[in-house]
Amino acid sequence: MIDLHLHTTASDGRSTPERLIERAARRGIRTCAVTDHDTVAGLERARLTGERVGVRVMAGIEITAVANGIDVHMLGYFFDPVHAELAEFLAAQREDRKRRVTEMLDRLEGLGIVLPRDTILAKSLKMTGKAIGRPAIAQQLVALGHVKDIAEAFDRYLTPGRPAFVSRRGAAPAEVVQLIARAGGVSSFAHPGKLGLDDRIAPLAAAGLTAVEVFHPDHDQAAVEKYGAMARSLGLAMSGGSDYHGPSAGRIDALGQVTLPPDAFEDLWRRAPRIGRG
Ligand code: AMP
Ligand code: ZN
Ligand code: FE
Ligand code: FE
Repeated sequence: MIDLHLHTTASDGRSTPERLIERAARRGIRTCAVTDHDTVAGLERARLTGERVGVRVMAGIEITAVANGIDVHMLGYFFDPVHAELAEFLAAQREDRKRRVTEMLDRLEGLGIVLPRDTILAKSLKMTGKAIGRPAIAQQLVALGHVKDIAEAFDRYLTPGRPAFVSRRGAAPAEVVQLIARAGGVSSFAHPGKLGLDDRIAPLAAAGLTAVEVFHPDHDQAAVEKYGAMARSLGLAMSGGSDYHGPSAGRIDALGQVTLPPDAFEDLWRRAPRIGRG
């Protein structure tokens, strides 16, 4: 089975790259891509583990782009993981993540909620290239009893319109598409069913987008059919995977359940500008 959407402790996943790939192997995954938010720091460890347990681990990433103040997740695959321009871009994305988390902690303090700043920001020091984000704040809100779970932390404080929310600064989706292509990879518009921005997809296809993420745990059968039809009509490939964030990450565990059909994978792979990387 093939899974092209997985997170590790290099971003907000709960599993180290080693544990993730071992678990994926046990669930029957034979080809996968690790797609951490704005970092490739987990790729090499995942790839080495894959060699040991028989899983082919492809280069992957989930980059947060911004369209009119709204986060748009752009997946990238098969690119050169040490491409200099990409690396520089990702380092800037992670710096803005720190800026944003710091400002969100300031806002919470304004509301009388003081969280351990060092613990949250130190997460970014544990692994070189680690990306931090709102889940690190949410975990502390739960740990200190301000909310009962991660979902409530987001609903009360951390989503647009909520008092601790700070918007992101970043590249537009079309710029991310072109950057991934320059790094030798293909791009996919992540989980469109979660976004309500379907009208963005056709212009992005014209700007060089490769694929749409059709198979995702937040897509029901109707959404799979809808985005599959959209991909066909726009001449785009399809991507998909479990978006697994590790055990007890407060989301659906679809590892080994939501996968990409082999023929769709072949189509996506054939569209990569570079050949021969793994
Ligand atoms: P950030 O990277 O800081 O924008 O945080 C976004 C991440 O937080 C997403 O990729 C999810 O992993 C997680 N997330 C976003 N919204 C929620 C929610 N309502 N409940 C739980 N986790 C969420
Ligand atoms: Zn995530
Ligand atoms: Fe996402
Ligand atoms: Fe994801």
